[in-house]
Amino acid sequence: MSDKKLALITGGSRGIGKAIALELAKAGYDIVINYAGNIEAAQKTVEEIKNLNVSAEAYKFDVSNQSEVDENIAKIIEKYGRIDVLINNAGITRDDLFIRMTEEKWNAVINTNLNSAFYVTKPVVKLMMKQRFGSIVNTTSVVGVYGNVGQANYSAAKAGLIGFTKSLAKELGARNIRVNAVAPGFIATDMTKDLANIDEYLKLISLRRLGEAEDVARAVKFLAVDADYITGQVLEVDGGMII
Ligand code: NAP
Repeated sequence: MSDKKLALITGGSRGIGKAIALELAKAGYDIVINYAGNIEAAQKTVEEIKNLNVSAEAYKFDVSNQSEVDENIAKIIEKYGRIDVLINNAGITRDDLFIRMTEEKWNAVINTNLNSAFYVTKPVVKLMMKQRFGSIVNTTSVVGVYGNVGQANYSAAKAGLIGFTKSLAKELGARNIRVNAVAPGFIATDMTKDLANIDEYLKLISLRRLGEAEDVARAVKFLAVDADYITGQVLEVDGGMII
């Protein structure tokens, strides 16, 4: 087993996941990121992490595909022997009004945002139970708490992640495994770059700006690493959009 702590971040090659990977690297963690297909972004992120003097590797697998997840998590565990921090962050949107929403859009979002957490967390928790230590942060969203027009699939998946977080926190606390969630509001990433009506959204945000990926990453690092006596919580990082 490596003597350095390891953090695994799904969807860690771009956006919020990348910022989380860099923040945990700054805290001294060796880093494994996962991504779906954009190898250039993944390689660039790996190089940036290595510049912080920790080890970094990227694994390409689809978090919504259980056999791909099992195969790759097994490889990671075999190589490093430990996973101290897991960030379930990979996610997609396929927005549409409910009346027009296809089963394909529904399933894609539920599989990638919610079922993925089941697939990835299961083998990781088995290892964390043996370690008698672990910290998990799930990336949900404010829309999982409050709902949003055009996002019935995404809101349902993110609300599901909140229930998942709280239940696991109750089941795993006695094993010294903490499980929390971060709920970002509007964060400037590829996911939100095509949003229309930005000015309308800004009026709703007390701090009058979109969040940066780093704003979320600092909150995730707090929950994952510093918050020794916090479990089962959902931390909203939304600039005071909903108070
Ligand atoms: P992003 O910029 O679109 O990045 C998505 C990341 O997830 C990329 O690394 C992507 O890999 C990876 N990914 C997507 N589908 C995947 C799959 N099936 N298997 C493995 N990896 C996959 O997204 P983001 O804005 O950073 O969002 C990150 C998380 O925060 C998501 O869970 C999102 O729902 C949540 N969130 C975002 C916001 C926001 O305003 N941006 C607000 C609330 C919550 P590739 O590059 O290879 O595609």
